[in-house]
Amino acid sequence: MNSSLQLGDDPTAQTPFYQPQAEEVTLFEHAYRHQLPVLLKGPTGCGKTRFIRHMATKLGLPLYTVACHDDLTAADLVGRHLLQEGDTVWNDGPLTRAVREGGICYLDEVVEARKDTTVVLHPLSDDRRELPIERTGELLKAPDNFMLVVSYNPGYQNVFKGMKPSTRQRFVAMRFNFPTPALEQKIVIKESGVAPAIAQQLVEIAQALRRLQDHDLEESVSTRLLVYCASLLNSGLPWQIACRAAIAEPLSDDEDTVTALMDVITAIM
Ligand code: ADP
Repeated sequence: MNSSLQLGDDPTAQTPFYQPQAEEVTLFEHAYRHQLPVLLKGPTGCGKTRFIRHMATKLGLPLYTVACHDDLTAADLVGRHLLQEGDTVWNDGPLTRAVREGGICYLDEVVEARKDTTVVLHPLSDDRRELPIERTGELLKAPDNFMLVVSYNPGYQNVFKGMKPSTRQRFVAMRFNFPTPALEQKIVIKESGVAPAIAQQLVEIAQALRRLQDHDLEESVSTRLLVYCASLLNSGLPWQIACRAAIAEPLSDDEDTVTALMDVITAIM
């Protein structure tokens, strides 16, 4: 079993804070009601995972999260036979468990997974809502409360790792982006407990850095990094140390780029 799997998060847990950016909560509820699979796309750290955790708790559904990577196969999702005390025993994968028991199966960064995973995702993501388990000869019909959700980051997309239109067109797609400054400030305050004036400065830094068209930067600063930085500041670290560690260094390995990022930060702090 893969170490990146989180099986069946408790649906009775407290609803995690999620600050909506538009109509995504209502849209998701409608998609669930109509048993439509959902695709979340957007840059890293902009709230996709938090949104799914929030929705799963709100809808009272267990959440099965799989962080996809380039070695992840269909068998990792569906399950496999394992040897147990001399016997071969079938072990459900997270996708099979979610289909059997109901709940949301969330495949994070789905385009990273091996191509053979599309074979199991296709019949599940159209109106058949079926999961064929070749190894056991079972054909599982997904219950009404099963929902397939996948996410990916179009920013990383390249010729080899794009999502095929034939797969993409099976999902209701929702685009996530960094929140507006007012909402991002609210999120940073809520998540870190930092003072509003500091949250405002951090959001200003984010705005400035996101405007930079630096080709050395694969991605710009995320809301997640602002929250990290706010937490470090809140516990008394000097801003130079906190901003370097939580903003500049995570964004680039190139020392000159980090220095340039620190210059932008210094002008605002
Ligand atoms: P993603 O899955 O898009 O990479 P996450 O959902 O893990 O990003 O978000 C990273 C962090 O940023 C969260 O843990 C949370 O602290 C904060 N965050 C980002 N967007 C929101 C939001 N809309 N509401 C609440 N928290 C958010």
